[in-house]
Amino acid sequence: MEQETPRTTGAVLPATFGQVDLSALAAREGTPLYVYAAPALRERVRTLRNALAGLDAGIRYAVKANGNGAVLRLLAEEGAGADIVSGGELQRALRAGMAAADIVFSGVGKSDAEIALALEVGIGRFNIESRAELDAIQRIAAARGGQAVAAVRINPDVDAQTHAKISTGKAENKFGVSIAEARSWFDAKAQWPNVRLDGLHMHIGSQLLSLEPVREALARMAAFWKELEAAGHAIASIDVGGGLGVRYREGEQAPDAREYAAAIAQALAGFGGRILVEPGRWLVAEAGILLTRVLLEKRGEARDFLVLDAAMNDLLRPSLYDAWHDIVRIGDAGGDAVTYDVVGPVCETGDTFATGRTLPRCEAGELMAILGAGAYAASMGSTYNSRPLPAEVLVDGEHYAVVRRRQSLEELLAGEQPANDWRRP
Ligand SMILES: *Cc1c(COP(=O)(O)O)cnc(C)c1O
Repeated sequence: MEQETPRTTGAVLPATFGQVDLSALAAREGTPLYVYAAPALRERVRTLRNALAGLDAGIRYAVKANGNGAVLRLLAEEGAGADIVSGGELQRALRAGMAAADIVFSGVGKSDAEIALALEVGIGRFNIESRAELDAIQRIAAARGGQAVAAVRINPDVDAQTHAKISTGKAENKFGVSIAEARSWFDAKAQWPNVRLDGLHMHIGSQLLSLEPVREALARMAAFWKELEAAGHAIASIDVGGGLGVRYREGEQAPDAREYAAAIAQALAGFGGRILVEPGRWLVAEAGILLTRVLLEKRGEARDFLVLDAAMNDLLRPSLYDAWHDIVRIGDAGGDAVTYDVVGPVCETGDTFATGRTLPRCEAGELMAILGAGAYAASMGSTYNSRPLPAEVLVDGEHYAVVRRRQSLEELLAGEQPANDWRRP
């Protein structure tokens, strides 16, 4: 867990959440509650679109960051397609109105059923991660009498300089294939007549705060694209993945969309095909907060604990990645400062949002917001400890809409049954 020097957190609620009465919203809809700001979502996707304006580039939003249908619909209205990693995400993207042609399918383990579904609906492109997957897509496409469009996911073997658990572009990671292996696929591509292999893909990691690893990986991709073209293999698409980091902590500096676009433009200068980008976190993280109430303040012998009604099952990132999330008290900023370990009620020591965090003194019932909860929060949620999934709301100015209602205990338990129907498999 993060070791922090005690200090009063300078974190403030983003202005976009100040327009709606969060106290009234929490009173009406209960807590924990995910709140997404439509203006912030629009602003991000427009900023990225504008930054990419000089390029023949498309945005393929990584659905796993936040797959809520209303969020997807909003991003689709702004022109984004989707990067999906499962058949479930494919269905979500289609239901949200995204065109199948604007969907790319990534992931190291696609099942036959998922591949068949993707071919049936006509997705834009498969990002292939292994020889076995290439063979499977060939077999399934041939059986259907169609052709799959595909890119090879290259593992460029660069250090993304991020947390080990979200680093994906080193040779020892499970993702992608080496340039040498990809080269052998292109050289033998007649072996897979039902796969149109004409794209390159990479995704080196997540929460990248520096563009240097991106530049390094792009340079390797660009050199390979040029080599392939020189060898007579036309490359129609280069997908540079996602990974752009966001500001989780006051004072942190996330990369700028224009600098990112400039890095892409520079590395791929002269490329005549389509460029795809697959941001997830960058589009949605800062557009979401997790509203939660203080259950109680517990003065321990060694430390003071602030126990919230949100827990690791609602926001796993601190437990999983030692991630920092700014936390603010809603309402006036007065009162003396106290150093707390901010925790949830789940029976795990890892159910800790922050260690040694200095906040204004909080009392039971007080409303708090955990910032940066628009990405990898609800989408990673579970019902551990039999805690029903929280509701999700979208706010726009002074208004809000419930975009996923709070799960009931009946819904949580649905599907379970007593062992009274014994059969032979
Ligand atoms: C997760 C993922 C992304 C999105 O990553 P972010 O860090 O959220 O931008 C993009 N592409 C692929 C293949 C992914 O697995």
